Amino acid sequence: MSQQLVAGVDLGGTAVNYTLLTPGEQFLIDGLCEHPARSKEGPAICMQQIADGLAIALERAGASLADIAVVGLDTPGPASAQGVLSTRGATNFVHADWAGYDLRAGLAAMLGKPVTYLNDGNAAALWGHFNIFGADPVPTSVSAIIGTGLGGGVIVKGEDIKGRAGFGGELGHVLLPYQSIPALAGVHPRCNCGRIGDLESICSLTAITNTLLPHFLGKYPTHDLARLDIATAAKKVRGLAESGDEMCRAIFQVQAHALGLFFDIMINTFDPDALIVGGGAIETGPDFLQWFVSEIRAGMPNQRDEQASIPIHIMPHGDTAGARGAAIEALHHARHAGLL
Ligand SMILES: [Zn+2]
Repeated sequence: MSQQLVAGVDLGGTAVNYTLLTPGEQFLIDGLCEHPARSKEGPAICMQQIADGLAIALERAGASLADIAVVGLDTPGPASAQGVLSTRGATNFVHADWAGYDLRAGLAAMLGKPVTYLNDGNAAALWGHFNIFGADPVPTSVSAIIGTGLGGGVIVKGEDIKGRAGFGGELGHVLLPYQSIPALAGVHPRCNCGRIGDLESICSLTAITNTLLPHFLGKYPTHDLARLDIATAAKKVRGLAESGDEMCRAIFQVQAHALGLFFDIMINTFDPDALIVGGGAIETGPDFLQWFVSEIRAGMPNQRDEQASIPIHIMPHGDTAGARGAAIEALHHARHAGLL
């Protein structure tokens, strides 16, 4: 084998996740293939960790680094569209040497391979789109990934909208007319970015911790979660909602209605072929997912029939979505550059 694969490398807070993709668009690694990231120890050690883990992943697939044409990297931001981290630092990259670090060039130098870069939300959005539409270049999709924060992306003609400075598809910070959600009366949901009432301020684990759970515990003061510290309690909301707990269902209903308002904005902006929801918040059973999607619909304002028929999909393989999307970006680049 020679130059017949691309790799996807998802650098998260504590682990690196890998996948390998053939020119025929087959993924060679099923499930998680992880290696410790050691990102707290700075870029020199972390880049070596990425290379070491990639060698292990390649060996598992019976391949070697010589078989790789392009490596796709994705990480949490904030970074530029070219993968240069903010000089003001980033939550997942706290070591001083990360400030202003060029992730793409750093990994390219370490591996001796061309490297493409996406932020993690954009990468997951690319995977969600690819999973539905394959390599068909026509459709448009909008993905929202609900995790600690809210990431996502907009895919037009098979490509992520990255924008001028890399902030394209920062869907979590789009402001919503949240006052139209009755259960939020009197609430001023504040996002870490400083905005009041953007999507992430209502639809994320951080939103449950900072805003929704404190608000709803005021209405349900004898609830079991009132006896736990708020961060611990917030992580239990999803499981309780799935098992039918009234307060936790109400919290997820608010999140679904906020997503409905957000998708309505996207529908009127892009008229997309698909809306896609992913992330840890919806790693649940099919009954809860069906309810959640129906509540997203219920949260949308009146729409034309052709708008209301736009499908809402669930993103599969959520824990490997970043690596898969990064690999798809690498495959695009390899094709455009004639490397495959
Ligand atoms: Zn925000």
